[in-house]
Amino acid sequence: MKSGPFDLSGKVAIVTGGNGGIGLGMARGLAGAGAAIAVVGRNEAKSADAVAEIDKGGGKALAITADVADEAAVTEMVARVRRELGRIDILVNNAGMNIRKAPDQLDIREWESVITTNLTSAFLCSRAVHPAMKQIGGGKIINIGSILSIFGTSFSPAYAASKGGIVQFTRSCAIAWAPDNIQVNAVLPGWIDTELTRRARAEVNGLHERVLARTPAARWGTSDDLAGIAVFLSAAASDFVTGAAITVDGGFSIVG
Ligand code: NDP
Repeated sequence: MKSGPFDLSGKVAIVTGGNGGIGLGMARGLAGAGAAIAVVGRNEAKSADAVAEIDKGGGKALAITADVADEAAVTEMVARVRRELGRIDILVNNAGMNIRKAPDQLDIREWESVITTNLTSAFLCSRAVHPAMKQIGGGKIINIGSILSIFGTSFSPAYAASKGGIVQFTRSCAIAWAPDNIQVNAVLPGWIDTELTRRARAEVNGLHERVLARTPAARWGTSDDLAGIAVFLSAAASDFVTGAAITVDGGFSIVG
């Protein structure tokens, strides 16, 4: 039996968008530290593959097909995790998307789909897990922001608004739920090589080279670069850390 400040044995984590990219990197990290994982996404086949990968690595995982922007689906997803895995200790609000257009080119449906997927989903999932966490005397919520929580760009107005909102939502929940011993923090990844940014590289001229030139670590991040922060913010090691927004970006955001 493992033990210690980073041990997650016996804990149950929900990772939205846990079937690929950053979410899967975090899910692998949490499973490696001992947590059982509910992998939540819309693509059933992708979620089944992610669960198989976690199982193969010696972890325990359950795939749940749900749209986290749909209130009823979120309620049912959380009920199923409680039913099948017994409890909820950790929620990672990671599901996200982007539509890259200048503000004058974006229509209302595009704006709403980005805000709903990236920001409203975090509200729906956090609110849905709160009673389960309160019941067991505490919990950990990790919201995935972005360096666009801090900066703007000409081509991602809804995305930047949603990710700025994630930080303020994080602070608000951290204060509201501190009496329930629930720590709520945000992680702001830099440029990580995933399906999302592979599309960005194709759509934004020169992006790849600009990222390399500005990043002190001189590389793009990988999904596994997010595993350590996920374990830290899910474990007893971070019990006095709440309302923080922690960059994981190879130094991208500190360059003047
Ligand atoms: P991917 O496109 O690789 O993964 C996105 C994930 O979100 C998928 O697993 C997808 O699963 C899930 N998802 C999207 N919409 C929904 C929905 N409505 N309901 C349920 N699941 C959904 O992207 P990344 O791994 O790159 O991004 C993960 C998070 O990290 C996002 O919030 C993103 O904004 C953020 N981020 C990424 C950065 C990067 O450089 N890659 C940088 C900063 C932040 P499915 O398709 O099965 O629904």
